[in-house]
Amino acid sequence: MESKKALVLGCYGQDGSLICKSLLEKGYKVIGLAKAKINNNQRHVELNIQDDLEIVEADLRDLSTLTEVFNSNIPDEIYNFAAQSSVGLSFEKPIATIESIVNGTLNILEIARHSSFDGKLFFAGSSEMFGDTQIRATITHSQNPKSPYAIAKQASYNLVKLYRNIYNIKCVTGILFSHESPYRNKNFITQKIVNGAIKCSTNKKTQIRIGNMNVFRDWGWAAEYVEAMQLMLKAETMKDQIICTGELNSLEEFIKLTFEKLNLNYKDHITSEEILFRKTDIKYSCGDPEPITKDLKWKAKFHMNEVIDKLLEYQIKNN
Ligand code: NDP
Repeated sequence: MESKKALVLGCYGQDGSLICKSLLEKGYKVIGLAKAKINNNQRHVELNIQDDLEIVEADLRDLSTLTEVFNSNIPDEIYNFAAQSSVGLSFEKPIATIESIVNGTLNILEIARHSSFDGKLFFAGSSEMFGDTQIRATITHSQNPKSPYAIAKQASYNLVKLYRNIYNIKCVTGILFSHESPYRNKNFITQKIVNGAIKCSTNKKTQIRIGNMNVFRDWGWAAEYVEAMQLMLKAETMKDQIICTGELNSLEEFIKLTFEKLNLNYKDHITSEEILFRKTDIKYSCGDPEPITKDLKWKAKFHMNEVIDKLLEYQIKNN
């Protein structure tokens, strides 16, 4: 039997790299789409998959190139991660952010519509579209996006739903809460904390400046989340899902625990400075994992404590 074919958009990012590895292990033929091929495959090299998939260079905003890629590699499954994925940067680059997420998603949906695509499509949505979640968010939680990034994710989530309902395209959104791995972009706060703490353990004079520590997040492990995404496409009914752990912790707790694991007191090294606070910080962001557990039997095994252990273990080994 011919192996299944998957097209991974944003294949060089954290989730893109991890899902490529997971799909290859399951015997898929994987085609990765990258905005730029050159000097960008470090994660694939670390995961030792650099020779196992075909990489095509295309910007998701470029409909004609994307159509060519699609027509020469008609996939069974498409995973769309391509995005300018930093909330902070989206205030500085709103056009690039919205174009990469909304136009990119619309392009792939339009290609699916015009080609009567019979496969399945996953879109990486974001918990940011909810804004603050005072209670664990389910799919029907009120939406209050507070950044250009969140607005783009909300619009794309609605487009995916529209194309599913109107054109019967088999497409779904996984609304992702924060998920980490050693492959996360280095500018994300969790990477800054873990790498900073390791530096503090070797150089006791190290000082780290950060923004608001009084924000609460639901942190999970990326390698588990990419398995949930695949289960969503295997399901009989195409249904949007929240992918999360359901555990809420403050950034201060994340920092304290990370430093404690290295026998350090974070108060000796970390300063929280108001000048670094975001314009519109979300205070609480937590999801309800019960629906996905009930529907797909998926449950996060790793919560904040284990996530920190795994990040520290990797960084200490590879520093
Ligand atoms: P990354 O930033 O690591 O990966 C995104 C990838 O998309 C990058 O490789 C980037 O390439 C690529 N990309 C950006 N713009 C374009 C474009 N116009 N055309 C083609 N490719 C493009 O993100 P993650 O892997 O962490 O996240 C995966 C997805 O999940 C993203 O959509 C993100 O917004 C979403 N998400 C992630 C969360 C998390 O905690 N990680 C939480 C919630 C949602 P380049 O680097 O060259 O720009």
